Amino acid sequence: MARNQLDWLQPCFTTPGKHSAWIAVSAGKAGESVHLPITVIHKGAGPRVLFTGGNHGDEYEGPIAIHRMIRDMEAGDLICGTLILMPALNPPAVEAGTRVSPIDGKNLNREFPGKARGTVTQRIAHMITEHILPHADVVLDLHAGGKTSDIMPSVMIHKLRSRERMARTLGVMKAFRAPVGILIKEFDSEGMLDTTVERLGKIFGCCELGGLGRVTPETVDVTWTGMNNVLKHLGMMKGSLRTPVWRNKRRSRVVEALTFKRYLMAPFAGIFEPFVDIDATVKKGEPLGRILSLDDPLEEPVICRSPADGILFQRHAFCLVEAGRKLALVAEETDRWDAMADAV
Ligand SMILES: [Zn+2]
Repeated sequence: MARNQLDWLQPCFTTPGKHSAWIAVSAGKAGESVHLPITVIHKGAGPRVLFTGGNHGDEYEGPIAIHRMIRDMEAGDLICGTLILMPALNPPAVEAGTRVSPIDGKNLNREFPGKARGTVTQRIAHMITEHILPHADVVLDLHAGGKTSDIMPSVMIHKLRSRERMARTLGVMKAFRAPVGILIKEFDSEGMLDTTVERLGKIFGCCELGGLGRVTPETVDVTWTGMNNVLKHLGMMKGSLRTPVWRNKRRSRVVEALTFKRYLMAPFAGIFEPFVDIDATVKKGEPLGRILSLDDPLEEPVICRSPADGILFQRHAFCLVEAGRKLALVAEETDRWDAMADAV
């Protein structure tokens, strides 16, 4: 596995078998090139699925499960279609164990569609947009909460204008069988891989698979099972869908957070003391935590209250917060998308 030419890679998307390579991306003035590992498994015409990990370098469930699929999966295991596996989208960040690249300080997930002559992170985004995305119809970008967030293992999708694409996206989200499938409104979607893939008219899901900067056997199993479930749902693999266990429960719920009113932001900087764990049912106005003053221990802490009724889907996990930081996201369980998803 030592080839590194994009020209060599292109025929692999239509040549039966399993092909592995490294794609070299020039670091420009910053120095040496960086190398993105990629494996393509092709079994004739059919759905084309891309699983990506390491978009942020400190989120590990995706890379672990994608590595396993690279090792274990052969073309003979597929019924049809193309499977593209990329475990380290931003190699300098993955090698440093950091969210952003240590070379140019950029967050890859805010640099799409990228720039051909930009910094190394912008060049990586450009290479993925130009040379990988055209070969995929369904893209699942595997993330986790990182060190600063705790989050229910989930597949996040966005509301789309096309009813047909919305239905197919819901179908993939529900097929993953994560503990939560969530329809979400992003604060800042410009530059995200999500937005670029959606603008290309493809199916996209952002998976958030664990939190607190750690990996557990459960969250890895949610990831691995979900990836296999999606391949089965699309008719690329045999077998029935499985719902993995998370926190001793085997269930998969659909929730939504389609308004900014469901976010709780820190009113000012300090030490955040959480009162409630993720997955809890909360009421609007219920205290979720408090912020302690860094300057004056005698100052009365400020109570941070739930912005809505619902399930505490995500919360800040690193105690120091700056003003305006997202402290919590409270989502609402819903069945209003079921009929559309079932129509797939
Ligand atoms: Zn991430």
